[in-house]
Amino acid sequence: MAEKVVIIGSGPAGWTAAIYAARAELSPLVFEGAQTEDNRQRGTLPLGQLALTTEVENYPGFPAGDLSGFLTSSLDEQDHWLAGMHQKEGVSGPELMHLMRKQATNFGTRVVTDDVVDVDLSQRPFKIKTLGGEEVEAHSVIIATGASANYLGLESEDRYKNNGVSACAVCDGALPRFRDSPLIVVGGGDSAVEEADFLSKFGSTVYLVHRRDQLRASKIMAQRAENNAKIDILWNSTVDEVLGNDADGVTGARLKSTVDETTRDVDATGFFVAIGHTPNTGFLQDKLEMNAKGYLTWTTAGRTYTSVEGVFAAGDVSDDNYRQAITAAGTGCMAALDAERYLAAKGL
Ligand code: NAP
Repeated sequence: MAEKVVIIGSGPAGWTAAIYAARAELSPLVFEGAQTEDNRQRGTLPLGQLALTTEVENYPGFPAGDLSGFLTSSLDEQDHWLAGMHQKEGVSGPELMHLMRKQATNFGTRVVTDDVVDVDLSQRPFKIKTLGGEEVEAHSVIIATGASANYLGLESEDRYKNNGVSACAVCDGALPRFRDSPLIVVGGGDSAVEEADFLSKFGSTVYLVHRRDQLRASKIMAQRAENNAKIDILWNSTVDEVLGNDADGVTGARLKSTVDETTRDVDATGFFVAIGHTPNTGFLQDKLEMNAKGYLTWTTAGRTYTSVEGVFAAGDVSDDNYRQAITAAGTGCMAALDAERYLAAKGL
């Protein structure tokens, strides 16, 4: 029997859609992603990008305070370790995501820990195929697959992935190779500053390599970088090459000035890339309308409708502008309400 609502993705958009759809008695099925090395490297493991961040200071409802009691009373025992890592700074990304998942399953959401690799939207019910070979039919689909970290695309960067090159400071920053050593973060946005700030707890100096003379990061985050004595911002610089060898992995980077032709080598044991994201829409090519950057397009202003009736898009996968946890959650709610109304109108 076809599912009423299938939700693909497990970030704030996916879980919020699931909470609303479950409470509307649509018995949603969430494909939360697979636990694979490929997903780890691309930052697309279950629970999404937020699970890879540290403190979330701007999600309403979590002022600074000790959440430990709430976490242990609301989460399953296997997730109580989150209370242990709690920093008394409001909520952390992993905590928030586990809480959302739990809220969705409390209301009856079913979860499959697998990737969706293909969808057939040309016939109804729609067909959804997973990496593990499962095939599911659905009357409506909510796409909430988010976006994943970009890399610079240098051959040398690729060579040292998992050997000093990373796109996730929170996942890898505490590794012994990064302790008390100089580290490089590339980028000038909020993510780059957040990564640099986090890494400054481990490294001796964190070089923030930015291609312009001004950060793109919000004022409060830019100030955080400028006020952190362990962060050294290298302005007007691009990366020519990641330096290293097979035995040691990354040993530094060759930087090129954007104002003259000079280059300089900077020693570092870690090279962290934080230069933005690409939407996870590869499996939807030629199936749904996208903008030039590959983000799914809402075909009606203020509605989560995509170019196929009955398929809705929520969160970062359809947002190349705001990209916040709260906006993702908001559009997840909208998508569930849109799906509910669509199913009711079709008598499904
Ligand atoms: P972003 O804001 O798009 O910034 C990307 C940065 O990478 C920019 O500084 C950009 O340089 C640089 N860049 C892009 N391509 C590059 C390349 N090929 N080589 C060198 N540098 C390159 O992305 P983000 O920092 O991931 O942030 C995404 C969204 O999440 C934003 O809305 C942000 O506010 C939000 N966010 C918020 C927080 C927070 O509030 N704590 C934390 C993380 C993210 P240019 O500046 O020259 O374009």
